[in-house]
Amino acid sequence: MKVGVLALQGAFGRHEQVLSALGAAPVEVRTPAELAEVDRLVIPGGESTAISKLLDANGLAQPLADRLADGMPVLGTCAGMILLAAGVVDGYPGQRCFGAVNVAVRRNGYGRQSDSFHTDLAIMPWEEPFPGVFIRAPVVESVGDGAEVLAELDGRPVLCRQGSAVVSAFHPELAGDDRLHRWFLDEV
Ligand code: GLN
Repeated sequence: MKVGVLALQGAFGRHEQVLSALGAAPVEVRTPAELAEVDRLVIPGGESTAISKLLDANGLAQPLADRLADGMPVLGTCAGMILLAAGVVDGYPGQRCFGAVNVAVRRNGYGRQSDSFHTDLAIMPWEEPFPGVFIRAPVVESVGDGAEVLAELDGRPVLCRQGSAVVSAFHPELAGDDRLHRWFLDEV
Protein backbone atom coordinates (compact mmCIF):
# COMPACT_ATOMS: atom_id res chain seq x y z
CA MET A 1 0.00 0.00 0.00
CA LYS A 2 1.51 3.30 -1.09
CA VAL A 3 0.60 6.35 1.00
CA GLY A 4 0.93 9.81 -0.54
CA VAL A 5 1.13 13.16 1.21
CA LEU A 6 0.04 16.15 -0.83
CA ALA A 7 3.20 18.28 -0.69
CA LEU A 8 2.23 21.55 -2.38
CA GLN A 9 2.22 23.74 0.74
CA GLY A 10 1.81 23.45 4.49
CA ALA A 11 2.55 20.88 7.16
CA PHE A 12 3.24 17.88 4.93
CA GLY A 13 6.65 17.12 6.49
CA ARG A 14 5.19 16.35 9.91
CA HIS A 15 2.66 13.94 8.42
CA GLU A 16 5.51 12.20 6.61
CA GLN A 17 7.41 11.83 9.89
CA VAL A 18 4.44 10.23 11.65
CA LEU A 19 3.70 7.94 8.69
CA SER A 20 7.37 6.97 8.36
CA ALA A 21 7.56 6.12 12.06
CA LEU A 22 4.60 3.80 11.45
CA GLY A 23 6.52 2.09 8.64
CA ALA A 24 4.34 3.46 5.84
CA ALA A 25 7.13 4.94 3.61
CA PRO A 26 5.06 7.95 2.46
CA VAL A 27 5.70 9.60 -0.90
CA GLU A 28 5.25 13.28 -1.71
CA VAL A 29 2.56 14.08 -4.28
CA ARG A 30 2.93 17.18 -6.45
CA THR A 31 1.95 15.95 -9.92
CA PRO A 32 -0.86 13.92 -11.51
CA ALA A 33 1.65 11.11 -12.21
CA GLU A 34 2.60 10.97 -8.53
CA LEU A 35 -1.06 10.98 -7.50
CA ALA A 36 -1.78 8.08 -9.85
CA GLU A 37 0.88 6.01 -8.05
CA VAL A 38 -0.60 6.21 -4.55
CA ASP A 39 -3.34 4.13 -2.94
CA ARG A 40 -4.28 6.67 -0.27
CA LEU A 41 -3.55 10.31 0.42
CA VAL A 42 -3.07 12.75 3.29
CA ILE A 43 -3.94 16.40 2.63
CA PRO A 44 -2.14 18.46 5.27
CA GLY A 45 -2.85 21.67 7.10
CA GLY A 46 -1.49 24.88 5.73
CA GLU A 47 -3.37 27.48 3.75
CA SER A 48 -6.34 26.06 1.89
CA THR A 49 -6.48 29.00 -0.52
CA ALA A 50 -2.82 28.48 -1.49
CA ILE A 51 -3.21 24.70 -1.76
CA SER A 52 -6.32 25.19 -3.91
CA LYS A 53 -4.46 27.48 -6.31
CA LEU A 54 -1.48 25.11 -6.45
CA LEU A 55 -3.78 22.17 -7.19
CA ASP A 56 -5.05 24.11 -10.19
CA ALA A 57 -1.58 25.27 -11.25
CA ASN A 58 -0.19 21.72 -11.07
CA GLY A 59 -3.08 20.16 -13.00
CA LEU A 60 -4.06 18.15 -9.93
CA ALA A 61 -7.60 19.37 -9.28
CA GLN A 62 -9.42 17.11 -11.74
CA PRO A 63 -7.24 14.02 -11.11
CA LEU A 64 -7.79 14.48 -7.37
CA ALA A 65 -11.55 14.88 -7.86
CA ASP A 66 -11.54 11.67 -9.93
CA ARG A 67 -9.60 9.68 -7.32
CA LEU A 68 -11.91 10.92 -4.56
CA ALA A 69 -14.95 9.93 -6.64
CA ASP A 70 -13.36 6.47 -6.98
CA GLY A 71 -13.21 6.20 -3.18
CA MET A 72 -9.47 6.60 -2.61
CA PRO A 73 -8.97 6.74 1.18
CA VAL A 74 -8.04 10.28 2.19
CA LEU A 75 -7.23 12.08 5.44
CA GLY A 76 -7.57 15.87 5.37
CA THR A 77 -6.38 17.88 8.34
CA CYS A 78 -7.29 21.53 8.94
CA ALA A 79 -6.71 23.12 5.49
CA GLY A 80 -7.15 19.55 4.20
CA MET A 81 -10.55 19.43 5.89
CA ILE A 82 -11.52 22.66 4.14
CA LEU A 83 -10.49 21.24 0.76
CA LEU A 84 -12.44 18.03 1.31
CA ALA A 85 -15.59 19.73 2.62
CA ALA A 86 -18.74 20.20 0.55
CA GLY A 87 -18.93 23.92 1.22
CA VAL A 88 -16.63 26.64 2.52
CA VAL A 89 -17.49 30.01 4.04
CA ASP A 90 -14.85 32.76 3.88
CA GLY A 91 -12.85 31.14 1.09
CA TYR A 92 -11.73 33.10 -1.94
CA PRO A 93 -14.01 33.05 -5.01
CA GLY A 94 -13.36 29.83 -6.89
CA GLN A 95 -11.69 28.10 -3.94
CA ARG A 96 -11.80 24.34 -4.44
CA CYS A 97 -13.83 22.18 -2.14
CA PHE A 98 -14.05 18.60 -3.33
CA GLY A 99 -17.11 17.48 -1.37
CA ALA A 100 -15.63 14.20 -0.16
CA VAL A 101 -17.28 14.75 3.23
CA ASN A 102 -20.68 16.38 3.38
CA VAL A 103 -19.88 19.16 5.83
CA ALA A 104 -19.82 22.93 5.46
CA VAL A 105 -16.93 24.71 7.14
CA ARG A 106 -15.99 28.25 8.01
CA ARG A 107 -12.32 29.10 7.54
CA ASN A 108 -10.54 30.40 10.64
CA GLY A 109 -13.76 29.86 12.60
CA TYR A 110 -11.83 29.36 15.85
CA GLY A 111 -10.05 32.69 15.44
CA ARG A 112 -6.63 33.89 14.41
CA GLN A 113 -3.19 32.30 14.80
CA SER A 114 -2.92 33.79 18.30
CA ASP A 115 -6.15 32.01 19.26
CA SER A 116 -4.56 28.62 18.57
CA PHE A 117 -5.07 26.13 21.39
CA HIS A 118 -4.58 22.56 22.59
CA THR A 119 -7.35 20.53 24.16
CA ASP A 120 -8.12 16.90 24.91
CA LEU A 121 -10.65 15.29 22.59
CA ALA A 122 -12.79 12.24 23.21
CA ILE A 123 -12.62 10.16 20.05
CA MET A 124 -14.75 7.04 19.97
CA PRO A 125 -13.90 4.25 20.63
CA TRP A 126 -10.56 5.20 22.18
CA GLU A 127 -10.41 5.27 25.95
CA GLU A 128 -7.54 7.74 26.27
CA PRO A 129 -8.24 11.33 25.13
CA PHE A 130 -6.50 12.51 21.97
CA PRO A 131 -4.45 15.75 22.11
CA GLY A 132 -6.22 18.16 19.79
CA VAL A 133 -4.01 20.92 18.34
CA PHE A 134 -6.07 23.70 16.74
CA ILE A 135 -4.31 26.34 14.60
CA ARG A 136 -6.56 28.79 12.76
CA ALA A 137 -8.85 25.82 12.49
CA PRO A 138 -12.03 25.60 10.46
CA VAL A 139 -15.36 25.36 12.28
CA VAL A 140 -17.80 22.77 10.97
CA GLU A 141 -21.01 24.74 10.61
CA SER A 142 -23.29 22.00 9.31
CA VAL A 143 -23.23 18.26 8.71
CA GLY A 144 -25.21 16.83 5.82
CA ASP A 145 -26.40 13.38 4.81
CA GLY A 146 -23.75 10.69 4.78
CA ALA A 147 -21.24 12.41 7.03
CA GLU A 148 -20.54 10.83 10.40
CA VAL A 149 -19.23 12.82 13.38
CA LEU A 150 -16.43 10.98 15.23
CA ALA A 151 -15.48 13.70 17.72
CA GLU A 152 -16.86 17.01 18.90
CA LEU A 153 -15.57 19.97 20.83
CA ASP A 154 -18.15 22.07 22.68
CA GLY A 155 -20.90 20.57 20.56
CA ARG A 156 -19.16 21.24 17.25
CA PRO A 157 -17.84 18.42 15.07
CA VAL A 158 -14.02 18.32 14.80
CA LEU A 159 -13.50 14.87 13.28
CA CYS A 160 -15.82 13.56 10.57
CA ARG A 161 -15.88 10.67 8.18
CA GLN A 162 -17.79 9.82 5.05
CA GLY A 163 -16.87 6.41 3.66
CA SER A 164 -13.15 6.44 3.00
CA ALA A 165 -12.71 10.19 3.57
CA VAL A 166 -11.75 11.47 7.03
CA VAL A 167 -11.39 15.12 7.98
CA SER A 168 -10.13 16.75 11.16
CA ALA A 169 -10.23 20.41 12.16
CA PHE A 170 -7.16 19.76 14.33
CA HIS A 171 -3.58 18.70 13.54
CA PRO A 172 -3.00 15.03 14.49
CA GLU A 173 0.53 15.22 13.04
CA LEU A 174 1.45 17.67 15.84
CA ALA A 175 -0.21 15.69 18.63
CA GLY A 176 2.71 13.44 19.55
CA ASP A 177 0.15 10.64 19.31
CA ASP A 178 0.00 8.41 16.26
CA ARG A 179 -3.37 6.76 16.83
CA LEU A 180 -5.27 8.73 14.21
CA HIS A 181 -2.66 8.01 11.52
CA ARG A 182 -2.50 4.34 12.54
CA TRP A 183 -6.27 4.07 12.38
CA PHE A 184 -6.31 5.77 8.95
CA LEU A 185 -3.70 3.31 7.64
CA ASP A 186 -5.21 0.19 9.17
CA GLU A 187 -8.94 0.73 9.16
CA VAL A 188 -10.11 3.38 6.71
N1 GLN B 1 -6.90 28.77 8.18
C1 GLN B 1 -6.24 27.90 7.25
C2 GLN B 1 -6.98 27.87 5.93
O1 GLN B 1 -7.97 28.49 5.79
C3 GLN B 1 -6.09 26.50 7.79
C4 GLN B 1 -5.13 26.50 8.95
C5 GLN B 1 -4.38 25.24 9.12
O2 GLN B 1 -4.37 24.37 8.26
N2 GLN B 1 -3.69 25.16 10.22
O3 GLN B 1 -6.56 27.19 5.04
